[in-house]
Amino acid sequence: MTEAAACKGKTIVVVGGGNSAGQGAMYLSQFATKVVILIRQKDLTATMSSYLIDQIAGTPNIEIMGQKDVLETRGNGKLEQLVIKCLETNNDEVLDASAMFVFIGAKPYTDWLSDSVIKDDKGFLITGRDLLTDDTFKKVWKLDREPMMLETCVPGIFAAGDVRSGAMNRVASAVGEGAMAIKFVHEYLAQN
Ligand SMILES: Cc1cc2nc3c(=O)[nH]c(=O)nc-3n(C[C@H](O)[C@H](O)[C@H](O)COP(=O)(O)OP(=O)(O)OC[C@H]3O[C@@H](n4cnc5c(N)ncnc54)[C@H](O)[C@@H]3O)c2cc1C
Repeated sequence: MTEAAACKGKTIVVVGGGNSAGQGAMYLSQFATKVVILIRQKDLTATMSSYLIDQIAGTPNIEIMGQKDVLETRGNGKLEQLVIKCLETNNDEVLDASAMFVFIGAKPYTDWLSDSVIKDDKGFLITGRDLLTDDTFKKVWKLDREPMMLETCVPGIFAAGDVRSGAMNRVASAVGEGAMAIKFVHEYLAQN
């Protein structure tokens, strides 16, 4: 919202094809003259909810440029151009743009957690039965019960919401898991 006002009368680029990118593009289209969505896929169908795809299709100042990769940003003190590669033809092209918004995924803040909490290759915390096939888990888990549904490989440490590997990435599921985690904490404390 803070940045959107500065996009008034300009051509801007949104990089990414998920719902965050779609919601961002829809909002920014109320301010910018033109919003270009740059994606590596051919279209948005595999990555964005259909309600957003429909909204974007009905917004004349949003253009989707598929099969594109951003190679370089250019400008003198501020963004003026992007160099993009067309993945279909392998040719580079230059696109004038005054701003670029990058929505290419989220990184969990889990570095501060000790390595004894097992994470997936992106840093999300592995919980519950998903741990059972993990080789490290088999070495570190000493209890004669399986981890509870939201429990990490460290007994008594639970994870809820987006930080969990395999999370649904929805508000309702994060809130629900938060409530479940409290119940599991009570169960855990009652056992120990
Ligand atoms: C642009 C966008 C649009 C979305 N639209 C929808 C939608 O329409 N519908 C829907 O259901 N979901 C939507 N989502 C997904 C939804 O926002 C998330 O699934 C949900 O917010 C997850 O909740 P959470 O509590 O797990 O994580 P978060 O909401 O990310 O909360 C985590 C909190 O932990 C804090 N934190 C991080 N590290 C630490 C630390 N070390 N110490 C203390 N605090 C810390 C963070 O600052 C943050 O406040 C959207 C997400 C985005 C990004």
